[in-house]
This record gives sequence, C-alpha cells and structure tokens, in this order.
Amino acid sequence: MIPSELSWKDSFKNGLRSIEQVNQFFNISLKEMHFDNLIPLHLAYRIKEQGLDGILAKQFLPSNEEIADHQEDGLNDPIGDQNFSRPGQIIHRYKNRALFLPTTVCPVVCRYCFRKNELSNNDEIFKSDFQKTLEYFENHPEIEEIIFSGGDPLMLSNEKLESYLNSFSKIKHIKYIRLHSRTPISLPQRIDTGLTEVLKMYANTFETLSIAIHVNHKEEIDADVTAAMARLREIQSLNLLSQTVLLKGINDCPNILEDLFKKINRLGIRPYYLHHPDKVKGGMHFQLDIKAGRIIYANLRDKLPGWLIPQYVLDIPGGYGKTPLFNPEALEFSGVLINYKSQQIKL
Ligand SMILES: *Cc1c(COP(=O)(O)O)cnc(C)c1O
Ligand code: SF4
Repeated sequence: MIPSELSWKDSFKNGLRSIEQVNQFFNISLKEMHFDNLIPLHLAYRIKEQGLDGILAKQFLPSNEEIADHQEDGLNDPIGDQNFSRPGQIIHRYKNRALFLPTTVCPVVCRYCFRKNELSNNDEIFKSDFQKTLEYFENHPEIEEIIFSGGDPLMLSNEKLESYLNSFSKIKHIKYIRLHSRTPISLPQRIDTGLTEVLKMYANTFETLSIAIHVNHKEEIDADVTAAMARLREIQSLNLLSQTVLLKGINDCPNILEDLFKKINRLGIRPYYLHHPDKVKGGMHFQLDIKAGRIIYANLRDKLPGWLIPQYVLDIPGGYGKTPLFNPEALEFSGVLINYKSQQIKL
C-alpha cells in the first residue's frame, strides 16, 4: 500500500538515491551507473504497485540498458544548450523568449531526460548568479517571455519562486511567464496551498502565466495527480499546457496518445507539444525513427479534433531549435529539416 500521508518534503527527502537502495526496494539487480538516480518515496510505491513492466517503471526506474554499448551514439548535450548559454542561468535561442534555469534539482530522474548528462555533472549552464540574470533580462527588451526550466522549477520553495516572479514583474517588457514542470506527476503533493497562492497572485500580474506540464501516459495520472491538477485549475487565468515526449515502449501508439490527450482535456490542460525523443547518451533505448513518429502523428488527425492535437516537434541537435516534424508530403524522412531561421539542417 502507498503511504498516502507522506508529505512532499518527506517523499523527496526519503527518496531512493542510490542503485543499492533501488535494488533493495524493488528486489532487482541493477549495475552501478554514473547517472543520477532519484525516485521520491511516494512514486517508488506507485511504481511497485503498477509493476516493473508498467509505464512508471519504464520511465523512472534505472535500467542496465542505460550503460549498454549502443548508448555511445547518444550526445551529452543533444539540443545544443551550451551554444546559447548566457550570463546568469539563461539559455537565449529565440529572440522573444528565453529559458531561466534556477535549479538543477528534479524530484525524479526521467531516464530519457535530455539533460541527464548535464544535470549529473552539474554543468556550467547552471552556475547561479541572479544579479547577472536580472541584468541580462533588463538589457534585452526583445525578451517578452521568461520560461522557468531546470531541473524542475517547482522544486524551488514558494518564497524563492515568489521572489523571482516579483523581480521579473518589475521588468516592463516581460509579458509572459511560463513554468515547465513534471512535479504534478512526479510529486503531486508539491502543488500545495502556498504554491497556488503564489500562482494566484501572479496570474494577473503578467499578461499570461502558464504551466506546461510534462505528462506522457494516462496511467501517470492517479487520484493524487488529478487532485493536484484540480488545485491548479482553480486558479483563474492560469494557462495550463502539456508537453509529451514520444517514447518507444511507452506511448508510441496513436491509441495511447488519444487516451492521454482526452484525459488531460478533462483536467483542463491543452496539449501543446509532442516531442520526438532527443538523442541523449543513456536514453537511446527510447528512440524511434522519424518515419514511425510521422505515421503515429498522422493517425491522430482521425481520432482527435485539431485543438486536441499537440505540435509534433524535434529539437534539432546542435542548437538549431525546435522544428515541426510532420511532413504532409511524405512519411519517409529525407534527412534534412528546416529550422526557425530557414536554415536547412542535415541530421
Ligand atoms: C523549447 C525552448 C523554448 C520554448 O519554446 P516554445 O516554442 O515557445 O515552447 C525557449 N527557449 C529555448 C532555448 C528552448 O529550448
Ligand atoms: S522532469 Fe524534465 S528535467 Fe527533470 S528529469 Fe524529467 S525530463 Fe529531465
């Protein structure tokens, strides 16, 4: 049984952190690996309850495949964040919006995570200096949106989050704020009253305050998750979006995606992005080819209304940015994509 009384802080603090602990808890035998391992206690119980073949285990439980030879084809920094790293904790690739990385902490380690190598090494891009961050945003009037990423920005304390939002609210050209988070799934108890108070306070300060929730499968959504989403939904004018990573063996099927998008629609969340998986070292076993993704995506048109279909995108390796992957002229992939600067990039 899942101890339902676990607070999010206890669930996080008592989470499984070493391969030894993971092996013991699940009675399995994983090899030591250099990647971070973290499963909050509450989620560990959920994984166990769902079983080791379940979609939670496949996404959150480390696997010996992560250190298999074929991982060598993967990249450490698959989307070229380093090339657009700016003073402070900023990644500024597109003119009108930039990522702000206030924390390296995530309550969980998704095994396919595109930043799994950077987060494990505590990379340069996470060096914190908020004064520099603020100066950068102030001196770049073309930036209209600040996107909190990380790590998971909801691992910040409510006070810290409030103080960042307060600072950003004083910069005239910042119109939109967005938080990218998986905590409503990985640590639903984190969506506490203190947090919803802060969000309520700022939902009307900015033109749009959004939370993009990372969710990949309907079975991630249990009663606790539903309750967390309901607490978010109560905040008027909070823009609730989703991001889903297309993953081999998890959700690479039009029926599974249909079920997911219908379910999150009932929770008041609008599908935003379907990400083709990044070629990250240690996560190559989740890869599928672009043609397979296109076939799945084409199928969605028959099953869902246009407003319930997210955009299918790939972040082109090397920092060339996100680009739509679906090509209505062909399912076969030519090997070349066009990015937001009209550059032709050979993959
Ligand atoms: C994904 C990403 C964004 C957000 O792009 P949207 O298309 O607005 O969701 C912004 N900056 C960087 C560097 C990104 O990787
Ligand atoms: S929540 Fe996002 S950043 Fe954190 S481990 Fe998962 S994919 Fe990576």
